[in-house]
Amino acid sequence: MPCIDGKTYLKRINRLGANVWIDGRRVKGNLSDHPAFKGVMASQARLYDMQHEQDKRDLLTYLSPKSGQRVALSYLEPKTKEDLGRRRQAFQLKARENVGMLGRSPDYMNTIVMTFAACADLFGDTRCSASLRRYYVFCRENDISLTHTFINPQVNRSAVYLEKDSDIIAARMIDKNKTGIVIHGARLLATQGGITDEIMVFPTGGYQFDEGYAYAFCIPSNTPGVKFICRESFDDGKGAYDHPLTSRFEEADSIVIFDHVTVPWERVFLHGDTEIAGKLYKESGFIPQQIHQVTSKNVVKTEFVLGVLQSMVDAINIGEYHHIQEKISEVIIGLETLKALLVASEVQARVDQWGTMTPDRKPLMAAMNLFPKLYPRFIEIVQLIGASGLVSIPTENDFRSANGSDLKRYLQSSDRDGMEKVKLFRLAWDLSLSAFAGRQTLYERFFFGDPPRLSATLFREYDRSDCVAWVNQFLRDDYGKKL
Ligand SMILES: Cc1cc2nc3c(=O)[nH]c(=O)nc-3n(C[C@H](O)[C@H](O)[C@H](O)COP(=O)(O)OP(=O)(O)OC[C@H]3O[C@@H](n4cnc5c(N)ncnc54)[C@H](O)[C@@H]3O)c2cc1C
Repeated sequence: MPCIDGKTYLKRINRLGANVWIDGRRVKGNLSDHPAFKGVMASQARLYDMQHEQDKRDLLTYLSPKSGQRVALSYLEPKTKEDLGRRRQAFQLKARENVGMLGRSPDYMNTIVMTFAACADLFGDTRCSASLRRYYVFCRENDISLTHTFINPQVNRSAVYLEKDSDIIAARMIDKNKTGIVIHGARLLATQGGITDEIMVFPTGGYQFDEGYAYAFCIPSNTPGVKFICRESFDDGKGAYDHPLTSRFEEADSIVIFDHVTVPWERVFLHGDTEIAGKLYKESGFIPQQIHQVTSKNVVKTEFVLGVLQSMVDAINIGEYHHIQEKISEVIIGLETLKALLVASEVQARVDQWGTMTPDRKPLMAAMNLFPKLYPRFIEIVQLIGASGLVSIPTENDFRSANGSDLKRYLQSSDRDGMEKVKLFRLAWDLSLSAFAGRQTLYERFFFGDPPRLSATLFREYDRSDCVAWVNQFLRDDYGKKL
């Protein structure tokens, strides 16, 4: 089957009828008609449609080595640096379509599936490795959409806490039988949970020492016993003028409950081997390939923020002030740094032990540590530049009311009438102040992990032995005497 279009994605998810709950009610009928999911599913559908457009098709797809049909480029296992560049271009073309606001555009999960399948031997057990390879082909050939959950509920994060076997909260493997493994308990935090074909569940950091948590699998979202409880939606149905970002890109986050869920053996990739669970993220290409996708998206997102900021500066004509120039320059420096780190990761890419061309981890780890600090600052700059303009934002209905002409006049800016000025500042509000904006900022702070622990990983992994050797040499050479 070739890569799908938007209609097929929507039809498939609606037909699946996964057990999705929101605001105390189970969603009945088509998920794509529900106000909480309508906007984001339409945006996701648009990404699938792009794969079929003549001018984008060659950038976003490649020919499947199995069927010869066109499949999504994010499934391409890179073998050369050119492949990495093709992947980046495809990521960015799609990210532009959603101005970098969809964290879980299909590229994200497709990359994870590709990466783990490429190192399937790491999963030890030959049955598991073969299943994983087959799963990758299944996803690629059917353009399967996925959500994922990699963390346990936030009950007690103390280093000495161990959950009691008798009182299961974090999803555990409680049985193995002829059919497969049995999972019971909860997992966090599946962004887009419920509106994808399948869910991926992999070991959670810090719990790998217990074989009950050392499992990895993918199953359809409608598997019996699986339930998605979504957070309340921030999309209240207002249109694109009032909520330009929320109305299109509001990705639900969900708690996933597994009630004695049987995962068939052909979908089990790990079942109790703690040593392998401990190696998965370190020895696979997961981190570099994933951050390569994410940083490609973050470059686009930063370009969009910069465009919004400059439009605000132009609108109220404040470009002459030095502190405004400094703030815009700060965003430019952030953008150019991200771009440089991305290019460096491709230039310094190497074929890894699994035969995959892998972008250099070091600049990408730097990007991954940097963006959670940059993005909240960008959003602060939007607030500092927007000031009261971010709340002097009547709705589209206000402009269409008897007050319309007053508002157009009194809210005009130096370069546009009131309705156009408010349109721009509503966008800035949705970027910096709305519930959607708050969730985006939290997302960028945390989605790839806890920032202090990410920097601790960089501290542990970054080889500075040459730097230390150089300093030792300097001390031994008695530099002063040589002068
Ligand atoms: C909007 C959003 C979307 C997300 N989407 C997904 C998704 O789709 N799939 C998915 O799997 N995950 C997702 N995540 C989860 C994300 O991976 C986690 O938020 C992140 O790993 C941090 O874990 P936590 O939220 O449990 O925080 P916690 O680990 O509970 O941390 C809470 C606080 O305690 C501190 N702390 C806790 N333990 C330690 C420790 N051992 N050492 C030092 N400090 C500690 C932290 O620094 C932090 O300040 C998402 C998160 C957000 C916010």
